[in-house]
Amino acid sequence: MAVRMKEQQQTVFPNGSERNSVNGGQMRAAVYRGESLISLETVPVPKISEGEILVRVHACGVCGTDLKKIEYGLVPPPRIFGHEFAGTIVETGSGVTRFRVGERVAAHHHIPCRKCFYCRKKLFSQCEFYRRTGTTAGFEPAGGGFAEYVRVMNWIVEEGTVLIPDDVSFEEASFLEPLNTCLKALETAGLESGEVVVVYGQGPVGLLMMQSARCEGARVVGLDFFESRLAISRELGAEVALHPERDNVRDAVARMTEGRGADLAIVAAASSRAIEDAQGIVRRGGRVLLFAQTVPGEMVPVNASRICVEEKKLIGSYSASIELQEKAAHMIFKRKINVARLISHRFALELLPEGIHLASHPSEQSLKVVIQP
Ligand SMILES: [Zn+2]
Ligand SMILES: [Zn+2]
Repeated sequence: MAVRMKEQQQTVFPNGSERNSVNGGQMRAAVYRGESLISLETVPVPKISEGEILVRVHACGVCGTDLKKIEYGLVPPPRIFGHEFAGTIVETGSGVTRFRVGERVAAHHHIPCRKCFYCRKKLFSQCEFYRRTGTTAGFEPAGGGFAEYVRVMNWIVEEGTVLIPDDVSFEEASFLEPLNTCLKALETAGLESGEVVVVYGQGPVGLLMMQSARCEGARVVGLDFFESRLAISRELGAEVALHPERDNVRDAVARMTEGRGADLAIVAAASSRAIEDAQGIVRRGGRVLLFAQTVPGEMVPVNASRICVEEKKLIGSYSASIELQEKAAHMIFKRKINVARLISHRFALELLPEGIHLASHPSEQSLKVVIQP
């Protein structure tokens, strides 16, 4: 994507009460202004209300879902994206007792109601309330991590904000939400210890998924077209890491499974060919989980008889589970998962378009891109 950068401009909110006194009431933010258009602007520091906190952002991961929203202009502008953030609390609203100014935190941006039809079925990301974004740096809430300060709303303060231990960096903590989404996918897929899992794509998400599956006792095959990523995949625990065009993936999986095929394939790459291939790589009754197909209306070929006759399941998983928050925090804070190794580039806020470009055009050297506002 060629993300254009608009010149710096000043945004004046019509209502002066929107303004906070922190930092003279002004901050820098990277504002999405339309399809592939990011503008670096001076905007008011968000004002917080009762039960809310204000966080000075120190690290914010660039997520694939943000990339797609910006690249295809999937949502109306203006918005400030960035939901994988961690930082320091600089202000607490009245009634906040769980947190104090100066504490280091990471926050989830969606929390379910726990009461509705979908929540009762534990389909938290389908909950109507869950879709409300609870962190913002101004405009229509969209995460807000691509700004200096972010306002965390009361329901996120109560249930979606996590204290970061002293020996864990902001960057590491910014992986809480992405890791949670991987754990949720594995739970959705019913992964059992000892199963053989093929992960399509060993980018930052695929490597996170590979490590998560390993932690759950799976034997993992990582697939990617970049040699450098295959090397990191082996280093971080994949039993086998292969190049889909050069290597015979089927034979390798067959050797690991007495000729049956993989128990589970996870498509962590936006590739319809990978979906087709995954349907062939899993055993009869195996599962294929879609994890990167987030663009509405995208059609892909599926082999219907493999679903019907061979009883292979085609499933999906999206976003995080509130019930896995503690588990994700434990895995990162105790370094069961190496997230630091996944960061390849760090950019100042001013260079967000460059970071977005890099994240959407991966190279041999690039993995996770982190913004440091
Ligand atoms: Zn994300
Ligand atoms: Zn609900």
